[in-house]
Amino acid sequence: MVEIDLNHIYKKYDNSKESDYAVSDFDLHIKDKEFIVFVGPSGCGKSTILRMIAGLEDITKGELIIDGKYENDTAPKERDIAMVFQNYALYPHMTVYDNMAFGLKLRKYDKTEIDKKIKYAAEVLGLEDYLQRRPAELSGGQRQRVALGRAIVRDAPIFLMDEPLSNLDAKLRVSMRAEIAKLHQRLNTTTIYVTHDQTEAMTMADRIVVMSMGEVQQIGTPKEVYLHP
Ligand code: ADP
Ligand code: ADP
Repeated sequence: MVEIDLNHIYKKYDNSKESDYAVSDFDLHIKDKEFIVFVGPSGCGKSTILRMIAGLEDITKGELIIDGKYENDTAPKERDIAMVFQNYALYPHMTVYDNMAFGLKLRKYDKTEIDKKIKYAAEVLGLEDYLQRRPAELSGGQRQRVALGRAIVRDAPIFLMDEPLSNLDAKLRVSMRAEIAKLHQRLNTTTIYVTHDQTEAMTMADRIVVMSMGEVQQIGTPKEVYLHP
């Protein structure tokens, strides 16, 4: 079971003005296995919140609670969280296999276990024939799948996705949308998905969090948010 509580979270970047908060008083309870989508214009603080949950940014004020446990100060490596970045952040000189294995080697998994996890992810994502290629030898959609694969092999109960489809063309975006929804059902993770695309939010979310200037504007099901705003 994985529930995430974001209790009155604030974020001020060190290099920003005294009064300039990237996130202010962000308050949200995320239920076990929920698919939450953050929507809102560029710069409204969506990525900042994901990065705070992943431990890549400090929380200025407020509490991150995961399953009742205070997590503000837990090192990123110690968090049971998988994140997919907008630019995929693949290592260009490494093969698909090595890209997926990297985080596991860092965590000292043994070779047999790494092989098994990568085999599973490759099968789920249809990447079996591409494991020895490098990112430059893949299509955009395949690179996207590798980025997802890198998250899947972590076997984490929490999935964070930061605009994972924004670099794909419109047609691929639609099909990957469906794939990610299916993946969510198969992996049964608690998921936060960031996008500025309302159609993605509407088709994928259990609940949508509409953000503006670092604050929550509205929280509700797609119906509540888009049909009865
Ligand atoms: P996003 O795609 O999340 O809206 P951007 O494309 O604006 O973010 O920025 C890409 C990266 O640059 C972000 O992940 C963030 O770490 C960094 N960044 C964004 N804004 C600033 C800023 N004002 N000062 C320093 N770094 C920034
Ligand atoms: P979004 O993901 O919604 O596009 P971000 O979380 O990337 O928004 O950014 C929220 C605000 O924080 C923006 O004003 C952005 O410029 C600022 N910001 C993001 N990253 C940094 C950073 N590393 N340093 C300073 N300001 C940043």
